[in-house]
Amino acid sequence: MTRSNAGEGVKEASVARVSLPKPVLQGFHYRVPERLRSSALPGTRVVVPFGRRRETGVIEALLDPDSTPDRKLREIERVLDPEPVLSAELLDLCGWVADYYVAPAGLVYRAALPPGLLGGGSRESAGLRRQVVRILEELPTLTEREAAFGRARRQREAYETLESIGGQAEVAHMERRLGFGRGILSGLVDRGLVEITNEIVERDPFSDVESEEAEVELNPQQQHALADLSRLTDRSEPGVAVLRGVTGSGKTVVYIRLMRHVVEHGRGAILLVPEISLTPQTVARVRAEFGDEVAVLHSGLSDGERQDAWRALREGRKRVAVGTRSAIFAPVSDLGVIIVDEEHDGSYKQGETPRYSARSVAIVRAERSGALCLLGSATPSLESWARVRSGAWTGLELSDRATPHPLPQVELVDLREEEGPVPIVLSDRLRKALKTRIDRKEQSILLLNRRGHSTWVSCDACSWIAVCRSCNVTLTWHRSRGRLVCHHCAYEEPARERCPECGEETLIYTGVGTEQVERRLGELFPGARIARMDVDTTGRKWSHRDILDSVRRNEVDILLGTQMISKGLDLPGVTLVGVIDADVGLNLPDFRASERTFQLLAQVAGRAGRGTRPGEVLVQTSRPSHFAIRSALQHDYEGFARRELSDREEPGYPPHLRLANLVISGRDGDEVESAALALGEWLEGLVEARPELTGTRLLGPAPCPIDRLRGRWRWHMLIKQAHAGRLGAILRFAATHAPVPGGSRLEIDRDPENLL
Ligand code: ADP
Ligand code: ZN
Ligand code: ZN
Repeated sequence: MTRSNAGEGVKEASVARVSLPKPVLQGFHYRVPERLRSSALPGTRVVVPFGRRRETGVIEALLDPDSTPDRKLREIERVLDPEPVLSAELLDLCGWVADYYVAPAGLVYRAALPPGLLGGGSRESAGLRRQVVRILEELPTLTEREAAFGRARRQREAYETLESIGGQAEVAHMERRLGFGRGILSGLVDRGLVEITNEIVERDPFSDVESEEAEVELNPQQQHALADLSRLTDRSEPGVAVLRGVTGSGKTVVYIRLMRHVVEHGRGAILLVPEISLTPQTVARVRAEFGDEVAVLHSGLSDGERQDAWRALREGRKRVAVGTRSAIFAPVSDLGVIIVDEEHDGSYKQGETPRYSARSVAIVRAERSGALCLLGSATPSLESWARVRSGAWTGLELSDRATPHPLPQVELVDLREEEGPVPIVLSDRLRKALKTRIDRKEQSILLLNRRGHSTWVSCDACSWIAVCRSCNVTLTWHRSRGRLVCHHCAYEEPARERCPECGEETLIYTGVGTEQVERRLGELFPGARIARMDVDTTGRKWSHRDILDSVRRNEVDILLGTQMISKGLDLPGVTLVGVIDADVGLNLPDFRASERTFQLLAQVAGRAGRGTRPGEVLVQTSRPSHFAIRSALQHDYEGFARRELSDREEPGYPPHLRLANLVISGRDGDEVESAALALGEWLEGLVEARPELTGTRLLGPAPCPIDRLRGRWRWHMLIKQAHAGRLGAILRFAATHAPVPGGSRLEIDRDPENLL
């Protein structure tokens, strides 16, 4: 097949390959009628007949009619855009994403375009709170559909209607306009097929964030880094640079000056941040510098506002884009630099198809457009660090804080030495430290990466444990709501007085979460003003920003929260950071467990002592000799990286080898198991039969660590390969040829961030 660009071959081309936002790998061929020949260009959206419906897709390529097999093609009905919405550059980039991650191109286009352009639209006006129902599980085959719905006809209708309007809609719209009542939607929720979430749409949350960025004078390290980076952007092949700078070393200042350099040379820039609601200061600083020239792409915008921002970039009226993961597809032309802030952050990887990593896409996009890709972090991912060490990428370092305050002292509290019959939540040490801060009117941050009150509810008399109906995970007790909640699906049930198994009042609650810590703090320090920031408090009562603003206005003594408090916060009043349980993530069955723990501790420790007073960090742990904890204690990134890199060498984990996770799932446990075993044999056969695939290591099949999720049983296999091209070949072949029975589904996750 040939791919031709706009302009060349347009006259003769009468066949277009169109990708639809559907979970199928191949595109579909349509005839371009005479009247549409001048407007049906690659990158434009078109309406085509599909089955008995009409669908919107994107023209991927125009083809030579002689090369297309089927002559009885249906016709494109309408062209929706006067000009392609995806430039040749973005079309090409999306093609890379589809190819590398083995994802349907139509779904890549949908992820790349602003919501609403290719289905998936959600918000029409700002300033409202609304409930949105959204498809969680796609059911690509008829067999799956039959199995999922059985005789629940109305549920199926509701599901398929939702599907046809882009996969999500307001609950009110489903109820009032389309006539699907609560009961029907709840039925779908119970089946794990859809979820209902509260969405709060705000007006531009950054319009009044102040930036105090005076014209700071760069210190020598910053000057050096900026000079090197600016020089790189002036080259034709600048490559990738990694800026490792401890928290508070002034990386953001360097980003901003570098972007200014690029813009002054008439080029554009993209800055990616992990989570925009958590980085209002970064955004405000970029705003202060670039004013109207910057488009901030964030989830608080309505579809219309997002499309406006997109258009302003596309037409060159704005040259700088700031945003989260999907902003990597922002239509900035003539890019000079792409910056990925906190590049180690897991949120850059999308958890659903297309499972792309914005960091990887940034590297590829920058390379293809002759721009510099700058990855910044206090704790770079080992993948990036290994490339710096090998000399493939440029490494730059800011080793000191920009302000005259040294990094805070970190001390461990060994939880095994604390007395008491029940597990310690707040050690004596931490309690005293908090008390001192309250007395001195200074602020504290407490981290616990586990929400709810108790994460494990069981019966002391029999063996009953509260687990989710659709997932093999324990339910978490949310005391204030009086409910047991699954953190992996929408399932919840009322909390109980008695054990449902033996009827005794012998239920015990273990596994401390943030809600419980909040209560204990309230009891210990009756006068203290405590704010909790986790998924439960930011979805409803306060938005992140309200909480952070009140901390900044000194209306809060203790800010307690999950990992969301570890990111990018610059709160000068904070002199104490306490980590309640550093071991939470350490025991997860994931090869990145140590790395994530180290990063989290290093990041949260960096929140202390950013103002005029020095900071103190107390880390509670039962594993004080673990090297991830010891290295964080000593602010020793390089020591950590050396040890972790060597630990991964023998088992062959990234960055030593490339990794893909193949997950096979379905509603029938036995069928999934035999499908997984069959897949394993098939892959072994494939690798043995082809000498060019030598060096491939296969692991599994085995049940996933969470072996049942949203009603589906799950098995997985890991594929390891040193060679990216070979791994890609295996994955593409598997996607199209591997034996997968009708009731099961194979999902391919390349460069996985999450192996659970
Ligand atoms: P990072 O992004 O590395 O965490 P920031 O860029 O946020 O660091 O800088 C931390 C603080 O130090 C900010 O308040 C910033 O204004 C200040 N700062 C940065 N560079 C300088 C400098 N050269 N002189 C004085 N203050 C600086
Ligand atoms: Zn019991
Ligand atoms: Zn569940």
